[in-house]
Amino acid sequence: MKKNIEVNKLVRGHIQLLKPYASARDEYEGSEGIFLDANENALGSVAEGSFNRYPDPLQRRLKEALAANKGIDAAQIFLGNGSDEAIDLLFRIFCEPGRDHVILLPPTYGMYKVSADINRIETQEVPLTDDFQLDTAEIMAALRPGTKMIFICSPNNPSGNLIKRKSIERILEKAPGLVVVDEAYVDFAPESSLLPLLHEYQNLIILQTFSKAWGMARLRLGMAFAHPEIIQLFNKVKPPYNVNGLTQEKALEALGQSQKKEDMVSRLLSNKAKLIQELKDFSLVEKIYPSDANFILVKVLQADELYRRLIKEKVIVRNRSRITLCDNCLRITVGTEGENEALVQTLKSLQIA
Ligand SMILES: *Cc1c(COP(=O)(O)O)cnc(C)c1O
Repeated sequence: MKKNIEVNKLVRGHIQLLKPYASARDEYEGSEGIFLDANENALGSVAEGSFNRYPDPLQRRLKEALAANKGIDAAQIFLGNGSDEAIDLLFRIFCEPGRDHVILLPPTYGMYKVSADINRIETQEVPLTDDFQLDTAEIMAALRPGTKMIFICSPNNPSGNLIKRKSIERILEKAPGLVVVDEAYVDFAPESSLLPLLHEYQNLIILQTFSKAWGMARLRLGMAFAHPEIIQLFNKVKPPYNVNGLTQEKALEALGQSQKKEDMVSRLLSNKAKLIQELKDFSLVEKIYPSDANFILVKVLQADELYRRLIKEKVIVRNRSRITLCDNCLRITVGTEGENEALVQTLKSLQIA
């Protein structure tokens, strides 16, 4: 370990003392027997299928499969109802209103700020540089003893680029609190995950999701990877059955077919390359930022106007033109071959009109 932290000192006092809820499935973990302990309906479910029994509160089978897939220990995994649940739990476990604060690096994923606001935690913003990298000097200057967390999104949403690993390591070394690295798009990136760094930095928390490369956004399954002491705190505070049974089953099924994910990633990356080539030719396109994700940030001549005209033609992109460093920028998700072609054709028709 290059960096050890005292988790006990970072956690909020009342969470440290909390006596967690023990569900029926926590108190008896076996799978054989006559289950008369959880007030379920013994006869079955109204909708087709067997949904009458509560799911495993700690998702053990799924975590074992995931641990094998990621090359880590099951005790280093928290699973949530989307990554957004993990983000919210981090605030609830570690951040005391009126005392602690977090550092955000705009332009970035909007949920960090919303979660901070919901939990009444002060945010301090240190914008990324013009090429959307960490401004390490400014971040270092902003670190204070009450800096509980800093959120680094890599590849970053909405800019699409990977954040340099060396600069993330510098923050990991200096930060007094936790460094949360959101890797929602890492499967699309040319560099691999920071997961191996979990062995070196006890203050590192990595977020990933089944919503993007795995194509399972509707199931709502997010992952947090961290030191087992931190994972135990997640388990203490989370709602007992936070990941539903159907989601657990389908995610296990997906992990058994991970080649299919790789194939979709390759296809989306080749669609992205083609889309970038085609967009370059438009005079209304000023700049296409380098992307390590399944979307591209595009600077155009008049973002608001173009956004509205695209909507009229039933082509929906994300208008990011009002956020830091993203003047006149639209964020475009890479679609199927047909969808991308439809976007290009629509742009052609708009330009002539
Ligand atoms: C899409 C996305 C997520 C995924 O959130 P879920 O709640 O798991 O669907 C997380 N972080 C970033 C930066 C994202 O863009």
